[in-house]
Amino acid sequence: MSTSNIQIIPISQSKIDTVDFNNLVFGTVFTDYMFECDYKDGKWQTPVIKPYGEISMAPSARVFHYGQAVFEGMKAYKDENDDVFLFRPDENFKRINKSSARLAIPEFPENYFFDGLKQLLNLDKDWIKKGIGNSMYIRPFVIATQPAISASPANEYKFMIILSPAQAYYAGEVRVVFAEQYSRAADGGVGFAKAAGNYAAQFYPTKLAHEQGFQQIIWTDANSHEYLEEAGTMNIFFRVGDTLLTAPNNDRILDGITRKSLIQLAEDNNIKVEIRRVTVAEIKEAARKGELKEIFGSGTATVVNPIIGFSHGGESFDLPKIENSYALFFKEKLMNIQYNISEDPHGWRLKI
Ligand code: PMP
Repeated sequence: MSTSNIQIIPISQSKIDTVDFNNLVFGTVFTDYMFECDYKDGKWQTPVIKPYGEISMAPSARVFHYGQAVFEGMKAYKDENDDVFLFRPDENFKRINKSSARLAIPEFPENYFFDGLKQLLNLDKDWIKKGIGNSMYIRPFVIATQPAISASPANEYKFMIILSPAQAYYAGEVRVVFAEQYSRAADGGVGFAKAAGNYAAQFYPTKLAHEQGFQQIIWTDANSHEYLEEAGTMNIFFRVGDTLLTAPNNDRILDGITRKSLIQLAEDNNIKVEIRRVTVAEIKEAARKGELKEIFGSGTATVVNPIIGFSHGGESFDLPKIENSYALFFKEKLMNIQYNISEDPHGWRLKI
């Protein structure tokens, strides 16, 4: 039931026939509609869903100068009966408000978020294609729009949701480097928030890593570079023997929804998980002894992304090819829940 009186401005004609759904480049195609809600005079105004298109802002809008911006990444999935599901959207809602609070952005009302998402997805339902791997990537974000270039929190904001159809994402063979010089986040900083600037700050070191043949960096703690934390857009798991290791959440790490789902699935399937600080030294030692079986990343975009090798301190290690990989096991289990193929014992699906 709608409780928020969202205004809908209809499109004159759908763009859907112009889209080749078999050749989508991630994040480049957007649907017919978008959701927009402005904050001014101390409150969030009535939201509107309108044709996807450009927005106009003053060059002095604070987001351009101080990066006061946060976002989310989530997906909708369609099952064989054309029903559409979100996966743990309450977690994304909580997280965007946690990010906002850290960036001094006013929190967004729950009914606007969920009504907006539901109505938007219903309007653009035909853009969500069936079939494992196909999904609708959902990008909610908030930006400071107040036209005033003084370095303080804005009093005007725009909350938007845009939708981009996505196909199964294959990252190719991923080889990573453990960070030794640059850091993604610092103690007391904004690493736990999905703040736009966290991503911009990674581009340069990641570019250097690419030049050396690595697809991603696994970030280490900024103080000692001895503890492994997370990758650019993924949390990270190490399988030593038959035990999974992953770093605990802290104020430098994004509290990933895929990560917490995998930890739950591991418990459900009697796979031992240790949530504790993981050292570079112990992972190198495990690799030398042949005990390091897998490294994989977890995140909304790729679900689970196996890593084939890593490098640190000028030494390179290849991971063995193994049968019964945890990465593939978790990927299948999670996708079966997301696509309404299996039971949903933890109530993670929300039907639209
Ligand atoms: N870490 C970072 C820095 C990320 O950007 C993401 C993607 N949101 C993740 C981890 C994975 O989080 P989730 O599983 O919620 O997508």
